Amino acid sequence: MAQEDVFKKLVAHCKEYGFVFQSSEIYDGLGAVYDYGQNGVELKNNIKKYWWDSMVLLNENVVGLDSAIFMHPTIWKASGHVDAFNDPLIDNKDSKKRYRADVLIEEQLAKYEDKIEKEIEKAHKRFGDSFDPKQFRETNARVLEYQAKWDELQARFVKALNDSNLDELKQIIIDQEIVCPVSGTRNWTDVRQFNLMFSTEMGSTVDGALKIFLRPETAQGIFVNYLNVQKTGRMKIPFGIAQIGKAFRNEIVARQFIFRMREFEQMELQFFVRPGSELEWFQKWKQTRMNWHQALGFGQENYRFHEHDKLAHYANAAVDIEYRFPFGFKEVEGIHSRTDFDLSQHQKFSGKKITYFDPGLNESYVPFVVETSIGVDRMFLQIMAASYYEEEILGEDGKKDMRVVLRIPAPLTPVKLAVLPLMKKDGLAEKAREIIDDLKFDFNCQYDEKDSIGKRYRRQDAIGTPFCVTVDHITLEDETVTIRYRDTMLQDRVRICDLKSLISSEVSMKKLFAKL
Ligand code: ATP
Repeated sequence: MAQEDVFKKLVAHCKEYGFVFQSSEIYDGLGAVYDYGQNGVELKNNIKKYWWDSMVLLNENVVGLDSAIFMHPTIWKASGHVDAFNDPLIDNKDSKKRYRADVLIEEQLAKYEDKIEKEIEKAHKRFGDSFDPKQFRETNARVLEYQAKWDELQARFVKALNDSNLDELKQIIIDQEIVCPVSGTRNWTDVRQFNLMFSTEMGSTVDGALKIFLRPETAQGIFVNYLNVQKTGRMKIPFGIAQIGKAFRNEIVARQFIFRMREFEQMELQFFVRPGSELEWFQKWKQTRMNWHQALGFGQENYRFHEHDKLAHYANAAVDIEYRFPFGFKEVEGIHSRTDFDLSQHQKFSGKKITYFDPGLNESYVPFVVETSIGVDRMFLQIMAASYYEEEILGEDGKKDMRVVLRIPAPLTPVKLAVLPLMKKDGLAEKAREIIDDLKFDFNCQYDEKDSIGKRYRRQDAIGTPFCVTVDHITLEDETVTIRYRDTMLQDRVRICDLKSLISSEVSMKKLFAKL
């Protein structure tokens, strides 16, 4: 199936099974804003728990925080967001569609990468096992030609970004003959800078109202609370503060479902370290975070690091963790060495001293910071994309059938166990309820008595439920049930009293933590 179709199906599936809805849908929706339905909210909460516990439970020197969304406006002046939180935008005059100029160029770079990969794939098929991709990359004339084009474009692009040269960005788009995917034309406007922060007013009178911003990242809430937490928690450097919360960005282009939203959620860790040790910690967190992703078992080949070519004004090192979405490798998480930029700026703008006395060194300094920042919604999309499978199976009547199954790692699934009475009568429904009443305090259970067992299995497969239990007449005699496993579709007969331990061990977050 073409990757574009996979993505369309995924979006439709998210809606049909109560994972994600367009916000304000009955009013025709609101661009790039989404609501999470009954299954979506469970998955989202589980993602947050996986992250939170891996930070706060597993690390003695990491503590949590929940800071407000509204903050003093000077914070955003100090952080640089008022002056520099911009994206370069460009419009196509024919389609009237708006694009990010940098993204158009990145997509052009990705096209050269695709061409190289296709050449390699073709040659691999032709030469079989003896094929050496490294040698091919270094010697094949066509690959070298694409690589040279990529190198040249990349160098020009990085220079334009670093110089904030908007005319040059436009010139690159023209020289590369990049067309608008909607109109197919090259009729572009000039490139302009666009600030991504939303603002609103606080206060009851127009005159006395204060213009405040909706935070575009949760990080600043951590920086301005650094002293509070360090002092009241008696924290010793190195230590970290973790926070999960909403962030808002007036994104120029928002056409990729929950990949790019205007209201979204971030999970951020700011880790405070001695000056000079930040790059070592940067390496450590880079690996720790990659392990966290890979523990989900979606295949190492689907992840890669992407080093930043243009560093943000506050960073001395930066890397993204990218996942292979149906629309290509894209960022899920950023890891940045933010130096002492933020704390120093807040010290300067607030006039309050923000230093740490290091007893080991017998000196005071402004701590350096390593940040890990991941979007809950992008992580959600990654999990849905990686888990979605369409499979041919044998139906109840012995004929070929299809099932859609979400192979979500068991600890993250919205529902852990479905209990299905074979029929409503003969006391089977009551027995099924009894089982749920016993297990509902341990994990999320669902009761379903409607339609054939096969159809009920399909419904649970479609939301990723790892275990289904069927209650039949034998259950009433010997207290056993049939348990059916989502991935293998195999069935076992087990005692009701063994269900809790059997399921608990599979759905516990410990299962994931053991791999970290
Ligand atoms: P991009 O380059 O895709 O715009 P970014 O580099 O601006 O992202 P960061 O500022 O590093 O992103 O934010 C950290 C994380 O927050 C990202 O890795 C992503 O997972 C998430 N994120 C950022 N912007 C959005 C958005 N508009 N919608 C959903 N998630 C987002």
